[in-house]
Amino acid sequence: MALDYYAILGVQKEATDREIKSAYRKLARELHPDINPSEEAAEEFKKVTVAYELLSDPEKRRIIDMGGDPLAQAGGGAGGFGGFGGGAFEDIFETVFNMAGMGGMGGSRYSEPRSRVQPGGDSLTRLRLSLEECYAGGLKELDVTTYVLCEDCKGSGSETGTEPETCPYCEGSGHVQEVQRSILGQMLTTHPCPHCAGTGQIISDPCRSCQGDGRVRRNRTVTVKVPAGVGTGMRIRLVGQGDTGPGGGAAGDLYVEVQQEPHPIFTREGDDLHCTIDISMVDAALGCEVDIELPSGNLHTVRIPAGTQPASVLHQRGQGMPNVRSGRQGDLLAHINVSVPTELGDEQKEALQKLRELEPDSARVLSEEEDSIFTRLKNAFQR
Ligand SMILES: [Zn+2]
Ligand SMILES: [Zn+2]
Repeated sequence: MALDYYAILGVQKEATDREIKSAYRKLARELHPDINPSEEAAEEFKKVTVAYELLSDPEKRRIIDMGGDPLAQAGGGAGGFGGFGGGAFEDIFETVFNMAGMGGMGGSRYSEPRSRVQPGGDSLTRLRLSLEECYAGGLKELDVTTYVLCEDCKGSGSETGTEPETCPYCEGSGHVQEVQRSILGQMLTTHPCPHCAGTGQIISDPCRSCQGDGRVRRNRTVTVKVPAGVGTGMRIRLVGQGDTGPGGGAAGDLYVEVQQEPHPIFTREGDDLHCTIDISMVDAALGCEVDIELPSGNLHTVRIPAGTQPASVLHQRGQGMPNVRSGRQGDLLAHINVSVPTELGDEQKEALQKLRELEPDSARVLSEEEDSIFTRLKNAFQR
């Protein structure tokens, strides 16, 4: 059953936006955790905040007025406040919270100092590969620079034999309070202590190797397993090979982004490869065979049939790159370029003269229809 969000704010169903806002402000002034530290007030504050968020959004209010519950829809679970900490609810709460421009949440949730040890971030690096390497995949070595645990202090940040001291500014609580104006009026807000970065501790004698950070930047070599068929922009994730966190916290992931080097013969389009084969007009007329060395290292013979027209594209099924997921190979598209000789020897000229005598008056002006078909074909194949 949908909750009565109107009742939570104590307003009528016909309430205007202004009335809803005013009701919320009034309740928030009584219930905000910085004003009223009791647990019941904190729970109540969450409820009214969510009710306000929903009713001040015309689309969500419409759903409520139709007897629905936007929270039930968003979370996919049962509506209502029974299970605090449920995804959709928390999300909405955080949103409203940030909107209101209030710093910390106050109450018990933020009273603990922040840990010095924080998880590390993800890191990104590039790996340049030739087309052949992309085709085959395999193990590659890569130099990366990331934060690693400081060996001298093992992440503690303190010089050997010393301990961190309690921060005198916040007396170890890790946060300081401040009066701030917000849409709810004057509020007492809580911020992380700037002197100790919210940890409540100050390292009095920092480790000389890491200046107290517990980690150092270091160059190292990692081995990357490259799947066959990778291409530019694809990312390979190495779990736990990213930056070690402050204080020696668990390392994030390392993402290796592939960049394929240009190839002298092939251009790539997804799993398909394109190449251009230049043949003479005689080969085009009589047909011929051309061998191409594929990225696999194998030779592939392209059979060019007699009567092949300029700008034809010959599909070589399954001769492209392997798909990185399925392993199924794409195609090789051979674009045929027919060269007309510009310099002819006497014998060649004679042979061609004879050919012309066999086929006199072959030059003619195309009808508009023939021309447009030809142009369209040509444009379709030229890349
Ligand atoms: Zn150190
Ligand atoms: Zn402090």
